Amino acid sequence: SVDMTRINKFYGPFQALRDVSLHIPPGKVTCLIGPSGSGKSTLLRCINFLERYDAGEIRIDGQLIGYDTPGGRLMSGRRLREMRRDIGMVFQQFNLWPHMTALQNVAEGLERVRGLPRAEAEAQARAALDKVGLGDKTANHPARLSGGQQQRVAIARAIAMQPRVMLFDEPTSALDPELVGEVLAVMKQLAAEGMTMVVVTHEMGFAAHVADRVAFMERGELVAAGTPAEIFANPRDERIRAFLHSYH
Ligand code: ATP
Ligand code: MG
Repeated sequence: SVDMTRINKFYGPFQALRDVSLHIPPGKVTCLIGPSGSGKSTLLRCINFLERYDAGEIRIDGQLIGYDTPGGRLMSGRRLREMRRDIGMVFQQFNLWPHMTALQNVAEGLERVRGLPRAEAEAQARAALDKVGLGDKTANHPARLSGGQQQRVAIARAIAMQPRVMLFDEPTSALDPELVGEVLAVMKQLAAEGMTMVVVTHEMGFAAHVADRVAFMERGELVAAGTPAEIFANPRDERIRAFLHSYH
């Protein structure tokens, strides 16, 4: 699980996160929703300490990330890298290496970070690409893949590392509408296999139908978290109603 307790985050004088507490249960999908600028990406990036939180605690399966002790010194770069190995992340922009094939993109981390011999890394990379339906595209470079296929390579790259948790930041926002479905389908399949997932999304259909829990943020605060039914069907908070209304 990921447990966030009273997270505060400042960009200079601007407070981007205000006392955010959220429990991400293992084996479930948690969607973060809310207006632009509400702090969704910031919160997600705090989980793997791509952004430094200033106060509070984030624990991944009980282990504090970012600091040696709560409110203490920054943890060593080596320890942070170790912890990040267990956290997969998929971005809006796919961030694939353009000079490498799909297979090399996925195998690279297995070789460099996990230290697998090349043949073993490539075998596992092939299995991960098979899983996202790209078993026949392993030799393609990113320029010869569609946006949806590139994003599926990025997902394969993350899951090949067998992370404890997968973070997604608007994984379908950069895609042409007709390519969104294939990426969401792969995410659904991961969810069905019991992957712990945190998904920042504007896809309300995905949040409503795939998420186990939905958390709504506004202006750096976590306004409410609950089941999709609690958040979508019968939102108690006026801010949530107004947000959902803007999606018609
Ligand atoms: P969107 O839906 O548009 O992606 P978001 O909910 O992900 O929005 P964040 O990117 O987390 O929002 O930003 C939260 C707030 O923090 C915004 O007001 C943003 O302008 C501010 N912010 C984000 N990154 C920085 C930064 N590096 N420096 C200063 N302010 C930042
Ligand atoms: Mg964002």
